Parts: sequence; structure tokens; C-alpha cells
Amino acid sequence: MEQRIYHGDITPQDLAQSLLAYFNRGNLRAQVYGAEQEMNVQISTRPGAQSGGLTAVTVQLKQIEDGVAVTINEQEWLGLAASMGQTVISTLVNPWNLLNRLDDLAQDVENLQINEKIWSVIAAVSQTHRASTQISERYQRLECLYCGTANPVGEGSCIACGAPLGNIQPVTCLSCGFVLLRGETTCPNCGRPVRR
Ligand SMILES: [Zn+2]
Ligand SMILES: [Zn+2]
Repeated sequence: MEQRIYHGDITPQDLAQSLLAYFNRGNLRAQVYGAEQEMNVQISTRPGAQSGGLTAVTVQLKQIEDGVAVTINEQEWLGLAASMGQTVISTLVNPWNLLNRLDDLAQDVENLQINEKIWSVIAAVSQTHRASTQISERYQRLECLYCGTANPVGEGSCIACGAPLGNIQPVTCLSCGFVLLRGETTCPNCGRPVRR
């Protein structure tokens, strides 16, 4: 299971529609379940696909306050091992059989890369909505406790009254978009070191 958070003006529908358009073709089938706030896109092998084992992966798209949390659940393999195993056995019996199994192998390898493709589709759609793993502009502003003026993140003192703004400005993990607490050096969500 892997989660990334896209901050900005983006909705689960925006992402669900694009995932459908991209994955509901060829040997794959995509279906959307759920309501506006929380949508699930299931991407699976089309029944009766000409080659490869069966696989299914679910992408959960959840509306959060300033964007969408995207979770890709563990990919399920239904008969992929069996498909690959059959390839190996038939090749041992007669190496020429490999030629007949190349389509299956190619499809299985392609299916193994679904997660990467999902992340790249999501990153591309987010970009068109100007959403990213960085906290959105709206939340990048910090209200001054003394005069109420919204200040950009990184400002040391209030641009209006000059009062010190302190250290409560939110930052996110640039790898996955998780909102970090001050002083955290590794991201609690993805485990990667925090770059600032
Ligand atoms: Zn102020
Ligand atoms: Zn992270």
C-alpha cells in the first residue's frame, strides 16, 4: 500500500476520470465505485484477455481539506504465478515453446508495471490542475496571531505588523505530500528522508 497526497484544487473525480480513460482499454478494464468524496478505481485484467495472468489493483481517491489523498492498494495476482510457471515448464520441455508464450510474458511484465503507470497518470493530471505534493498556496499562508494578516510561508515576521511568525508553518514531504511535523527528519508516511 502506498499513499501520496496531492495538495491543490483537484477532486477525486478529476483523477478517477483520467484513470478510467487511460486504463479502460486493451487487456485492462477500469471501473469506478463510490461517491464524490471517496472514489475507488479498480483496474483489472479484462476477462478473456488474450494473454497474461489475471491481476487487479484498487486506487482509492479521498477528498481531503486541500486536495486528494491517493492510495494504491496491494496489487492482487490471480493466476499470474500460474501463468509464468506454465511458461517456464513448457520452455523446459521444449525451448521452442517460449515463442508461443512471449505474449503472455510481455503482458505479465506489463501488468507488473501498473502501479508506476498509475502514479504517472495521477502526477500528470495533478499538474494540469496545478496540484502537487507541496502544500497548496491557500495553505501556504500563515495568519498572524496579532493582526490576522495572511503571510506567505517562509516569512519570518508578519508583513503587516512585523510580529514574529514563529515556527508553525506547515511543510510537506516532497516525495508523497504528507504534512510533516516540525523536526521530523523522515516521513512517517513513505519513510523517505525529508528534504527541506
Ligand atoms: Zn501581523
Ligand atoms: Zn513521504
